[in-house]
Amino acid sequence: MQAAPDALLRIENLSRAFSSRRGLSSLKLLAVDRANLTLPADQHEIVTIAGESGSGKTTLARMILGLVEPSAGRLLFKGRDVGRIEGRKQRGWFRRQVQPVFQDPFATFNPLRRIESYLYETVGNYGVAPRRAADEPIERALGAVGLSLREVKGRYPSELSGGQLQRISIARALITDPSLLIADEPVSMLDASLRMSIVNLFRELKARQSVVYITHDLATAYYASDRVAIMLRGWIVELGPVQKVLGEPLHPYTQLLKTSVLEPDPRQKSSDRVSLAASDDTTFLRVGCRFADRCPRVMDICRGVEPADIDVDGRMVKCHLYTDGMAAEQATAPALASIPT
Ligand code: SF4
Repeated sequence: MQAAPDALLRIENLSRAFSSRRGLSSLKLLAVDRANLTLPADQHEIVTIAGESGSGKTTLARMILGLVEPSAGRLLFKGRDVGRIEGRKQRGWFRRQVQPVFQDPFATFNPLRRIESYLYETVGNYGVAPRRAADEPIERALGAVGLSLREVKGRYPSELSGGQLQRISIARALITDPSLLIADEPVSMLDASLRMSIVNLFRELKARQSVVYITHDLATAYYASDRVAIMLRGWIVELGPVQKVLGEPLHPYTQLLKTSVLEPDPRQKSSDRVSLAASDDTTFLRVGCRFADRCPRVMDICRGVEPADIDVDGRMVKCHLYTDGMAAEQATAPALASIPT
């Protein structure tokens, strides 16, 4: 008998190359570079992948969904190598188990189609139930997001709010009873007043499945997540429990990300502030640390040697500051409690 897998999802040295045009030539760069991340099989978690645009977080999410093929490394779901899942039956199993929730609820639905048609279509496409029994899984999924079939039946997208549409979008993902939801910026198109209700919904859904939550919004990440991975130009640079990584960040990039969501200090000279705007693609090719040009704590070694992944204080940090076990307290930033939501 085959042993039960110890991980729901295991990402091992996963990389994805892309081409970037430089005049007449093109460069091969790694949008995701040797990423490692494991979600346990024996408990549900919300794991946030956060970072600026161009950090690789969406590419990583699309690889987990099987929408983008890795260039190197392995992705195991329930012990099965996703790259080797073949045949209609096996692929159907994986697609039912790992479901996406997309960013824009307004773009998800055709304004000329009734909402329930998407739900019945999902039941049919995934073979969840025969047409005559389709109401039951749809009611179950809508119930999980605080809605009912009676409330949505016969209605068009324009008759529903953005918050309701995103709930229906999540319900559609739940119809197959997945083990893992991949939610890519699921609240970024919603008003601030609706964001927390959707974030709270993910916390409730954790009772039944794990969630990978992709965002650049550290406030909702802090509120929703169990663990957080911070990405920078293809690398995971800090990974661990959210209270540690966002409460007391160790990597200089995480510290700056966190500071960027706090009120700017009016006493700080603009020349002292470090830009968080994504730098150009050449940083992917840089020898040494990819944050060296923007890092306020850069050292000589940073410009020549790639930092290793180092275990510090119950989290992983990819930074030379910690190579020799430098005391974590020397590098911490202020607590996140004052971040507005
Ligand atoms: Fe800054 Fe060096 Fe650490 Fe990179 S390795 S984040 S440049 S201190």
